[in-house]
Amino acid sequence: MKVLITGGKGFIGSNLSDLLLEKGYEVWCLDNESTCNLDNDKHLESNQKYHFIKGDVREKINIPKVDFIFHLASPASVPHYQKDPIGTMMTGVLGTKNVLDFAVECKARVVFSSTSEVYGDALENPQRESYNGNCSTLSKRSCYDESKRSAETLCYDYKRVHGLDARVARIFNTFGKRMNMDDGRILTNFIRAIIRNEPIPIYGDGKQTRTLCYVDDTVRGLHALMMTSSIEGPVNIGGTTEMTVLEIANEICKIMGSSPNFIQVDIPEGDPKVRKPDITRAKLLLGWEPEVSISEGIRLMGDWVRGILPSLLTHQ
Ligand code: NAD
Repeated sequence: MKVLITGGKGFIGSNLSDLLLEKGYEVWCLDNESTCNLDNDKHLESNQKYHFIKGDVREKINIPKVDFIFHLASPASVPHYQKDPIGTMMTGVLGTKNVLDFAVECKARVVFSSTSEVYGDALENPQRESYNGNCSTLSKRSCYDESKRSAETLCYDYKRVHGLDARVARIFNTFGKRMNMDDGRILTNFIRAIIRNEPIPIYGDGKQTRTLCYVDDTVRGLHALMMTSSIEGPVNIGGTTEMTVLEIANEICKIMGSSPNFIQVDIPEGDPKVRKPDITRAKLLLGWEPEVSISEGIRLMGDWVRGILPSLLTHQ
């Protein structure tokens, strides 16, 4: 069976490639290399079943036919998606249309990687898939949030109009090996600061909450969503242990053997106050829930970071 992963060289995509290759799939990775670490798929260079194509989903997709498509291509962290907001919006809308057109051509099944950001600054906690969110079309985050909301709509319109089997995963904060350490996300910010002996930046009072999911669990969830026989409506994929940002920072310091040294910085516009998925649907419909504890995940990520330490210390 052939699988296309758009954004397959990224953090989640490269971990998903490993899982799918292990399971015997032939993997085609389409990526414009705009936000990933360039060596994320280096270990796959000699794998006959792995094919990398440098390309952009905003252009017509022209690769051999596949059976399954994981559509992950999109800038995903705040600094990355805000660097080119129009490009981000077009990746979500035009890119998703191109991927869905290709899926219709191949009669392939699609899993689209949406995000917890579709819930915006949520007024409901935990967030169920039935919650429509509290979003703005006007903020600096809107290019990402609204591109994902529009892309979800496209998936369901292609389902209705073309009978396409499109499925939507709403991914919550995922962390682990092969994250881009410059992506400005909570875990990478904290670990970078510890490694460089710098104070850990905490947005505002640090009382905003997040949940974390280790990447091995996330890719297992995406695979389960693809493989389930049929499913209606989006599914949340994420960890359920809700922690304040300060608690997360303290946990990382404990595991990485560093004494807490925090610096308060301004809270960015639109930073959500709470984030926690209700994963009842994933449990019931996919038999999926996270297995890796946050402490174990941080330990695994710490081991990976130590392996890339020299580049981290020299790269500004
Ligand atoms: P990432 O930045 O590591 O990976 C995204 C990949 O997409 C990169 O390799 C990038 O080069 C590629 N890309 C970006 N625009 C492209 C384009 N126009 N054409 C082709 N390739 C393009 O980020 P990630 O964390 O691996 O995220 C993967 C997907 O999961 C994204 O769609 C993201 O929105 C979603 N997601 C991630 C998280 C998380 O916590 N990591 C949470 C919610 C949703």
